[in-house]
Amino acid sequence: MNEVVLQLENVHKSFGGTEVLRGIDLTVHAHDVVALIGASGSGKSTLLRTVNLLERLDDGQIWLRGVDISTPTTKVDAVRARIGVVFQQFNLFPHLSVLDNVTIASRRVLGVNRTLAEQRAVELLDRVGLADKARDYPDRLSGGQQQRVAIVRAIATDPELLLLDEITSALDPMLVGEVLDLVRRLKADGTTIVMATHEMAFARDVADHVVFLDAGVIAEQGPPATMFTAPTTERAKEFLDRFL
Ligand code: ADP
Ligand code: MG
Repeated sequence: MNEVVLQLENVHKSFGGTEVLRGIDLTVHAHDVVALIGASGSGKSTLLRTVNLLERLDDGQIWLRGVDISTPTTKVDAVRARIGVVFQQFNLFPHLSVLDNVTIASRRVLGVNRTLAEQRAVELLDRVGLADKARDYPDRLSGGQQQRVAIVRAIATDPELLLLDEITSALDPMLVGEVLDLVRRLKADGTTIVMATHEMAFARDVADHVVFLDAGVIAEQGPPATMFTAPTTERAKEFLDRFL
């Protein structure tokens, strides 16, 4: 078994009086793709946001490579620099070129000089077939291209973990494939990924581990072969029946 990159223990999160995460235990090993599935409102985004410290947990602990990142003294920016995130809505900076979008974190957070950061960015863009877009602004790109740039931006700092939150949900169906293909390539490169997704066929094909979230608890988890063909809980069966 590969080393543990991320570990959650008994993570709780409430908004107002509503408990949205109700005791999440989760282990993510290096190079694994973990698919987070579950109905809308089950807590997938909150879970990812909690890992990235965009939400403060109310109880429990989160370790990134063995270091507790859920303490009050955790340096949030330092942790975020080690975790890449892509959200559903294209979140590129509209006033920055593709190249600046991709390099800004390396330059500002890691202090990499512009020439080096740009070399690396162009390399990455080239690998995803977008090198010719480096000088363009995001509004000139298709949704699929924007989302691929967002992924390139997220990996430009060589994060230890990549969080993807329904990154194809806002795309035209025609553009979904090119984004999923990129995720497939990241997996082939050994990237450790936790992805909330409604793309069940993709999860089944690419994920090493599937986690079914139901009303803030992990109702069931396991390898895709088991989860998708022989779920053991009624809730997972009901949920998957709507997709399969
Ligand atoms: P999912 O991503 O699985 O659709 P979310 O994590 O977005 O689920 O939401 C889980 C629940 O938490 C929902 O009921 C949602 O309305 C609620 N929620 C999420 N974020 C907030 C917030 N900032 N304030 C209040 N309620 C929230
Ligand atoms: Mg969500």
